Amino acid sequence: MEERDKRRVGEQIEPGGRPKAPGRLELLQRFINSYNHDFPPDWDRIGTPKKAKAWLRQKQLVASGEDVSDADVTRLRELRESIRALAMANHRGRTPGKAPAEVIRRLSGGAELSVAVDDAGRTTLAATGHGVDGAVATLLGILHEAQLSGDWSRMKGCRKCEYAFFDRSKNRSAAWCAMSICGNRTKNRAYYRRRRTPKG
Ligand SMILES: [Zn+2]
Repeated sequence: MEERDKRRVGEQIEPGGRPKAPGRLELLQRFINSYNHDFPPDWDRIGTPKKAKAWLRQKQLVASGEDVSDADVTRLRELRESIRALAMANHRGRTPGKAPAEVIRRLSGGAELSVAVDDAGRTTLAATGHGVDGAVATLLGILHEAQLSGDWSRMKGCRKCEYAFFDRSKNRSAAWCAMSICGNRTKNRAYYRRRRTPKG
């Protein structure tokens, strides 16, 4: 993949051309994929206050004039990696352990939600706070909705690169972001490992 395309992965491009997660869960998917462990650290879309502010603004998670501090960046990145850890545990037989939940609890102080009702009587969870508190609340609200709908169990972190992808397969068995990228990398390594192991 060309560097120009790699830089679009997680926003405009999905590995292997997979469809994105449905509904608001797509926003949470993009949040997790605001950084890809395979890419250089300075590609982190929320890696500095300026970048994080631009990303959050673009996703309408903060209003104009609301600032993002260094501490906010640390908070958002920790939150992202903890939610990624939960997605990693959506593979069959895995458990996230207590650590990610503890981090999420610690980071979600001040992030509050209320039930909003539109004119047609439809309800949504809406953040009551502003700035990064509001953004964190919205993201956790989406996590909650996806757990209620069952969609969350299909959100997985690639076993190789930890990219968050939505597993639409019937038996929920997808393990990699794209078989053509990480699946083959993993298989090739196993193949060479087998070949190097002397018979005996
Ligand atoms: Zn991958």
